[in-house]
Amino acid sequence: MPTFPALRRLDRRGWRSGVRFAKVWQRLLGVERTVVEGVIFDEDAGAIIASVRPSKGATRRCGLCGRRCPWEDRGEARRRWRALDLGAIPAYLEADAPRVRCVEHGVIVAQVPWARHRARHTTAFEDQCAWLAAHCSRSAVEELLRIAWRTVGAIVTRVVADAHARHDPLEGLVRIGIDEVAYKKGHRYLIVVVDHDSGRLVWAAPGRDKKTLNLFFDALGKSGCARLREVSADGAEWIADVVHSRCLNARLVMDAFHVVQWATDALDEVRRDVWNAARREYGDKVLADRLKGCRYALWKNPEHLTKRQRGKLAWVAYTNARLYRSYLLKEELRLAIRLKGEEGIRLLAHWLNWASHCRIGAFVELARKIRRHRQPIEDALRSGTSNALVESTNTKIRVLTRVAFGFRSPDALIAMAMLAVGGCCPELPGRQTQLRLELGAAA
Ligand SMILES: [Zn+2]
Repeated sequence: MPTFPALRRLDRRGWRSGVRFAKVWQRLLGVERTVVEGVIFDEDAGAIIASVRPSKGATRRCGLCGRRCPWEDRGEARRRWRALDLGAIPAYLEADAPRVRCVEHGVIVAQVPWARHRARHTTAFEDQCAWLAAHCSRSAVEELLRIAWRTVGAIVTRVVADAHARHDPLEGLVRIGIDEVAYKKGHRYLIVVVDHDSGRLVWAAPGRDKKTLNLFFDALGKSGCARLREVSADGAEWIADVVHSRCLNARLVMDAFHVVQWATDALDEVRRDVWNAARREYGDKVLADRLKGCRYALWKNPEHLTKRQRGKLAWVAYTNARLYRSYLLKEELRLAIRLKGEEGIRLLAHWLNWASHCRIGAFVELARKIRRHRQPIEDALRSGTSNALVESTNTKIRVLTRVAFGFRSPDALIAMAMLAVGGCCPELPGRQTQLRLELGAAA
């Protein structure tokens, strides 16, 4: 396989690129501040190999901080970076990997303008990969780019770190929501922090304890903590403790999304009890099966019910007063949360009175729980924060925990979430130029 020092003798097999062709190749490969020295087709690898070097202003820079440094040595050998396919053919960049001596980072491989530090793929390739990971299925990404899902995880992590280095997601936060999300079949947890104003995920880390949450407030800094006005959470005491000790100007409110979740859980408990009773005590298999089939009808919001599910609900109302009463209790609580403001608070008071006297164990217990958290729930209703945005972000993160299965580390899962709901998804490479061409063609 020919390597590039030999390229200069390659006129017989290929052509040495003139200045004009070098420019075309620069565009084709999606690189900037880069000199394309020559291009060959490597028969063995079945790939196009372009020999490149950084242009004058882009040499001798530290791989981490980009500072100009003195040369250290020539490095180990020439290296290859996978570039975007050219048509249907894979393409690689090949170049020396010399080292420099940075005052801060010591002896380090010099920065190259076509790829991120430590990457084996060009920046254009990585950006395209990240964009695809945010928009397509796992198998589509793997097949189209011919890379393993684990590599996608590493790439996405680098792309997101790069985006965060350019724009700090923790800047200017005023109202945030803190939540825990289970992943790895519920064995592990992430703490996620969402910006209520933009609906974006701004921070996440593996764990569900005070120590991990404190890391977020450390990252936010003293002035950032002081700027916070409202923090919503699910009522967990460890979150409340940390918020009270770190955010002196913020009000802690209840995440209304979780209140509805509690009611849904209570309803499910009642349904299970009724089902078990039908099965065991009366041995009524038909009734038990019909009850089992009602789960979605009871669980879904009534405005989304299908005709069939509405029929099931009517059947429950007719045959099982206790279960139907539980359903109505769930729905009234959900309505109070949706109404918000003083109206919502009045309905919540009515609900508490009803639930406390309903003689259905799960809901009496729920009423107690809600009384314990009444102040933060009322604060949430009063503040009128739109939970829909945060709720959809949370739902998307929960979906992602399944998609990102197969990544080795939670970092890759977090990076995936940052791409999808954190506003870190890069543009597809080279799109601006293409748009101009198309507009030109239309005119
Ligand atoms: Zn440096």
